[in-house]
Amino acid sequence: MHIISDIEETRKLIKDLRYKYGIIGFVPTMGALHQGHESLLVKAKQECDAVIVSIFVNPVQFNPGEDFDKYPRQLEKDSEICFKNRISLIFAPSIQQMYPEGLNNTLTKIVPPQIYQDKLCGKFRKDHFNGVATVVLKLFNIIQPDKAYFGQKDAQQLIIIKKVVRDLNIPVEIIGCPIIREPDGLAMSSRNTYLSFESRQKALSIYKSLCRVKELYESGIKDPQSAVDEAKKALHNDVIIDYFECLNAESLFSVEKLKDKTLVAIAAKVDQIRLIDNIIL
Ligand code: AMP
Repeated sequence: MHIISDIEETRKLIKDLRYKYGIIGFVPTMGALHQGHESLLVKAKQECDAVIVSIFVNPVQFNPGEDFDKYPRQLEKDSEICFKNRISLIFAPSIQQMYPEGLNNTLTKIVPPQIYQDKLCGKFRKDHFNGVATVVLKLFNIIQPDKAYFGQKDAQQLIIIKKVVRDLNIPVEIIGCPIIREPDGLAMSSRNTYLSFESRQKALSIYKSLCRVKELYESGIKDPQSAVDEAKKALHNDVIIDYFECLNAESLFSVEKLKDKTLVAIAAKVDQIRLIDNIIL
């Protein structure tokens, strides 16, 4: 397994991998890998001949005051996980390598349509999805994968990446993968490492509240607001909601009635730590 930070070297190696093996799969990550990420690696390995993982904490998708500086970085442990999963190459560039001419005002950016951005996380994290779309397109241009794997955990990100790829005719197939959870239901996330034992107990109520929406839907409640209002009662008192919404899982438009395939998404802060989760009815 190669671990490379240089863009040109990465391109050369991938050219060889493509020639030798064939279909190239790609899993973009910010590192601090857990079983959620690992499920993407496993799926990519099943479907592709060689798999590349990128590890890059992308400054352009963080706003001032967010956790860019304290985001967990653990390349050595991540490498072991990738090695175990027979990954061919880890691309782990520096900020300087990815953004040699600087950030923000001097950078050409991909700007996904506002109607995809002005809801859910986009409403609370200004320009976040411009940063995500920009780095993902840069990574696609560097790696040129045949297939790329993204988690349903970041539902809005997955929808936006699919939209950008369609709109700009990027020759890559985007594959969404289900959310992997801890045995007690908490969605796995690199940010879970910030949670104290007590905060983690409170955080469990997030998934419980999503399951409550599902229960209510299955018991015949079709009005999204009534279902969400009732489900909020399952949340621990210290869980502060950013949003708790029911949307169309492809267009992200609000739904008037709950139906199968509706996306129910929540973001909430538990003792200052922001967590996101969702289910599809
Ligand atoms: P991140 O490192 O947080 O940028 O995540 C990299 C990829 O892993 C994204 O496509 C995420 O949606 C995906 N991912 C993160 N957590 C999970 C999870 N619990 N289950 C499935 N995929 C996940």
